[in-house]
Amino acid sequence: MGLKLFNTLSRSIQEFAPLDPAGKKVGMYCCGPTVYDFAHIGNWRTFVFADLVRRYLEFKGHAVTHVMNVTDVEDKIIKGIREAKTTLHEFTGKYEAAFFEDLKTLNCLEPHHKPRATEHIPEIISLIEKLLARGVAYKAADGSVYFSIEKYRGCGCNYGQLLKLNFDEMRAGERVKSDEYAKESVADFALWKSRAPEDGDVFWSSPFGEGRPGWHIECSAMSMKILGASFDLHLGGEDLIFPHHEDEIAQSEGATGKPFVKYWLHGAFLLVEGKKMSKSLGNFFTLRDLLAKGFTGREIRYLLLTAHYRETFNFTIEGLHGAKAALARIDECVAKLREIAGDANADEDNSFLQQFEDSLDDDLNVSGTWGKVFEWIRQVNRKIVADEHSVPYSVRATWAARQLATWNRMDSIFGVGLKSETTVPPEIQVLLEMREAARWAKAFKQADAIRGELKAKGWVIEDTPKGPKLKKI
Ligand code: AMP
Ligand code: ZN
Repeated sequence: MGLKLFNTLSRSIQEFAPLDPAGKKVGMYCCGPTVYDFAHIGNWRTFVFADLVRRYLEFKGHAVTHVMNVTDVEDKIIKGIREAKTTLHEFTGKYEAAFFEDLKTLNCLEPHHKPRATEHIPEIISLIEKLLARGVAYKAADGSVYFSIEKYRGCGCNYGQLLKLNFDEMRAGERVKSDEYAKESVADFALWKSRAPEDGDVFWSSPFGEGRPGWHIECSAMSMKILGASFDLHLGGEDLIFPHHEDEIAQSEGATGKPFVKYWLHGAFLLVEGKKMSKSLGNFFTLRDLLAKGFTGREIRYLLLTAHYRETFNFTIEGLHGAKAALARIDECVAKLREIAGDANADEDNSFLQQFEDSLDDDLNVSGTWGKVFEWIRQVNRKIVADEHSVPYSVRATWAARQLATWNRMDSIFGVGLKSETTVPPEIQVLLEMREAARWAKAFKQADAIRGELKAKGWVIEDTPKGPKLKKI
């Protein structure tokens, strides 16, 4: 059986067949973070989902090119710079660095390309020029360039591919300059926003005048630059279906005349304790908030991977405690297998892996797959006990090595790994404490010297919200 996925474009489950005639290469674009704040647990649900898709395609033998952009110029960012009285790069740099650190904490594979919007202004401008030349964009009196939905539809193109839209209720020619709007207010959207006083010094010159790009055009320009005019997969959270993804299709197909993306995958939203996350409700968690509560990236990743991506997920702190317990069962089983296997080596148990794969092939049915994994753990635990005194040691060691190889293969997709066993030697711990003391005493030179000494001994200090941590190089 091949992989089947729900394609928002066809509103149906479809067999996945890459555009590559050899069926091997897959181009995948996931809308990345808007770097105006720390990413919250809802954002992380979507990025962990993208990581699952990539890992599973690789498991199935595809050569994936994974692109995830960084939106580093957009309405919310401009507002943030104004409020923080800082520069664009200082503001976005901080959140971008935090984002990639968090991505690592959640053991997500690093995308192969991480294009920043501000580094693709020439590509964005040339895409807008193409749209102007094709007559589907126009410069308005306010100096901004807009995409004309009427002209686009007039060329026989379809606006409303991901979401059915009722054009009779819409007034042609209305314009929207903001990056986000509801489907009720569908209107010509901005490709290039003319420089406004509130933009401060965030502007670029262009043939259409000084200004900055709209959010939607950023993704069209960056995805097509790296993956070509047509590519296989485009992912994001369900809130991006409209207008962001619909507008990406219109801009891209409007410029190239070619189908933009074959499969659109959208992850459902995450709620916290049954409610939409909001700072006023006190249920707004960044990854760092959860780490500060003592949970690990691995526990959070596991929990996010327990629900099907198309189902709304109710995130709770109780759920995280459950994740801790579930991982402890896996760890315990794997530790016993390691002990029995010793140095033995063996291939994977392909018949079990086939069941595992069948389950994920079914539109990434993770909940069903975890059910199979825990049933497998139960059987492995039972056999460990049953064979202890009745089966020769060498046979048990080979069997255990086979189960370990099977688990490692499964974990290449789940990425929940094993609990870190690294222990910090006492003399290294003492150096860390000395460095902390020096920092408190503002003896920064001495603190840096100790950091250097630790590095020479193979340890780096990571300053975390819970204080400094040591990591082996
Ligand atoms: P943003 O940084 O706001 O552009 O969002 C990054 C990604 O997170 C997008 O794919 C959003 O669709 C997704 N996202 C935002 N909020 C949630 C949520 N509560 N649950 C799941 N995904 C979300
Ligand atoms: Zn995007």
